[in-house]
Amino acid sequence: MIKCSRSDLSKSIFIVMFLVTGLSFCCNGQTQKSYGGASVEKIESVGGDLSFVCDVKDWPTVIGSDVKIIVKGIEPPGVLEDNGAADGFYRQQVKEFVRKVLKKAEVIELKNIERAETFALKANVIVDGRNLARQLIDKGFAQVRKKKEIEKKTDPKSQDASNDNSLVASKSGKVFHASTCSFVKRISKENIVTFTDKAQAEATGRRPCKTCKP
Ligand SMILES: [Zn+2]
Repeated sequence: MIKCSRSDLSKSIFIVMFLVTGLSFCCNGQTQKSYGGASVEKIESVGGDLSFVCDVKDWPTVIGSDVKIIVKGIEPPGVLEDNGAADGFYRQQVKEFVRKVLKKAEVIELKNIERAETFALKANVIVDGRNLARQLIDKGFAQVRKKKEIEKKTDPKSQDASNDNSLVASKSGKVFHASTCSFVKRISKENIVTFTDKAQAEATGRRPCKTCKP
């Protein structure tokens, strides 16, 4: 057992990361590598986007410090998509809920870890034996993540609308753009990263482009 009292969130929290299926490195998922188990020293912060940031014990600092963990398999409820005010309130509420759950937890396991599109890991988060995603869904903070909506693509109007709302950045870039920004044309397809909203883009440490002001 590892006990930490440095952060208010980390009291007696012992986090074990079970790399059940291993980290998936290849885009096609062809290469799967298992690193066995690891423990995390503390929770650094909790985001309003169904994620939290933690330090992983015994991992090299470059990947083990301030690792963003995205709760796998869920997304915010659909109702929020068109309502900015509700979105802010939602983020605050979900942040408090996740913080509370993690704070009182004794064992937090991360299972089926995968690399996310941005520098983060996605994992099934099991808090004292209970699935965090399930708890978030039960509380109305999330819904099961839907597969990419293929129907939308067949309707040119809705495709345009979704493209206009999406934000994009280069994998290595520090700036994010509206998808319509002229800078976006210079980013090669393989290097494009997309975000559903500004908060998600900012959570990766990027700032808005000064030209397109997304
Ligand atoms: Zn731009």
